[in-house]
Amino acid sequence: MSLFQCEVCGCCENTALSCQGFKYIEECFDWSYAPEREGLKICSACGPTEYAGGEGPTEYGQWHGEFDRVFLPMGEFHTNRVGNLEHNQSGGEDFRLYAIQSEVKP
Ligand SMILES: [Zn+2]
Repeated sequence: MSLFQCEVCGCCENTALSCQGFKYIEECFDWSYAPEREGLKICSACGPTEYAGGEGPTEYGQWHGEFDRVFLPMGEFHTNRVGNLEHNQSGGEDFRLYAIQSEVKP
């Protein structure tokens, strides 16, 4: 498991808590709520609320609450070789130093 930056809201998420970011298993979910999100790596809160084929609600569409949702400047981070979120410019792993307020609603 590793940390990554959600491509929709910019928050720091853990793959283990967001179905690997909903990537590569897109067909399992109903993306009609936000078709533009299909194929992106996204957090649990931005994730789909319904499974494909009318199989019912997922546990997603809300923040999991396992740790604080920290929003970060979009595109300024990447997942490094040890699975931590690394600031592109400084190389630092303490992403909380770059936390910002976000207007994105779940
Ligand atoms: Zn998100």
